[in-house]
Amino acid sequence: MVGNISAMPALYLRVGREKSVLRHHPWVFSGAVERIDGAPVSGDTLRIYDTDGNFIAWAAYNASSQISARLWSWDQDEAIDKAFFHRQMTRAIAGRNALNLATDSSGMRLIHAESDGLPGLIVDQYGDVLVMQIGSAGVEYWREEIADILQDICKPACIYERSDSDSRTLEGLTPRNGVLRGVLPDTVEVIEHGLRFEVDVAEGQKTGFYLDQRDNRALTETLSKDCDVLNCFCYTGGFSLYALRGGAKSVLSLDASAEALHIAAKNLTRNNLDASRAEWQDADVFVALRKLRDQGKTFDMIILDPPKFAPTAAFAEKAARGYKDINLLAFKLLRPGGLLFTYSCSGGISEDLFQKIIAGAALDAGVDAQIVHHLHASPDHPVRLSFPEGAYLKGLLLRVAG
Ligand code: SAH
Repeated sequence: MVGNISAMPALYLRVGREKSVLRHHPWVFSGAVERIDGAPVSGDTLRIYDTDGNFIAWAAYNASSQISARLWSWDQDEAIDKAFFHRQMTRAIAGRNALNLATDSSGMRLIHAESDGLPGLIVDQYGDVLVMQIGSAGVEYWREEIADILQDICKPACIYERSDSDSRTLEGLTPRNGVLRGVLPDTVEVIEHGLRFEVDVAEGQKTGFYLDQRDNRALTETLSKDCDVLNCFCYTGGFSLYALRGGAKSVLSLDASAEALHIAAKNLTRNNLDASRAEWQDADVFVALRKLRDQGKTFDMIILDPPKFAPTAAFAEKAARGYKDINLLAFKLLRPGGLLFTYSCSGGISEDLFQKIIAGAALDAGVDAQIVHHLHASPDHPVRLSFPEGAYLKGLLLRVAG
């Protein structure tokens, strides 16, 4: 290490609050902090000590967040410098390469934040364009070095930064949206299992595309032959295109974003799929499902992939009502023997609670249903065992009684 160690800022934990950190959970909440020595500013590297002064980990400090520190390393001898990020990023990307995700596909999540030992850093790949999203003061501090390393390892045509998620406000960070390296092509495209999708990296949601649903979309394709499908919250048409390629008889897709629907229709053409079997509706799903019920419409397959209703556990109750409402309506719209793919990407709703909500919805709808698959994010969104919060996406494939 360079510099005088005793002058380096340090964070001391309250008695007993070292336990989760020793289990390698990567966050220190403000309530766990006994005192801070030195005068660190947000983004600075500091040492974490237990109350007796034993070293536990290296972390990035954040003065503005409920999460006072996000941990980089538990190895006292490991310097937090550009070489550290190079090692972590190389390991994350090599881990993806070993999963054979690139067959017929040009997109994947290269770095999944806490789960890859890089709290607050997301990097998604869409062909030769990388989109980087920064959600922590620590990554913000190392932003230029991280961009250089990405350029060095991946040699992309462009690194685009989409650091404009709402959660940045909670971290005391201002939004940023723009090119970080290279030149953004006029059109960005990602290929997923052979299907081509236009990705609006500058204005689209999240980093432009929902890579986490990749394998669940593929499962949809295998089950959609001859089905009348209803795809709710369709965004740019992900599940819809898979269902059409899988031989669905008809696919009705709903979303409240006109821009997303515009790209969805273009994606259909881009893949030479039969537009006569597809209908796109700009609609609020909560309203549209009631309308479909009142019209007596029914479907063989329904997909519910709503946005995050509960970013944290504090919103769980309100979110639970939202999930129950749409799932109850979906159960009523399903034909006997029909399939429901239902998802929640809310960090504040556990897998167990989600299943309970769905069970309540089925009961109130008066249908008997079985779980045939438990669904999760694709393997390029791994979950670190010490960070169960990384398992934000949960889903169920249900079959209602015939
Ligand atoms: N299934 C998609 C991702 C869904 S993201 C995929 O595979 O790519 C959630 C979508 O819900 C967004 O496109 C957003 O525009 C839409 N949305 C949010 N609230 C909505 C509402 N009340 N009614 C309809 N769509 C809504």
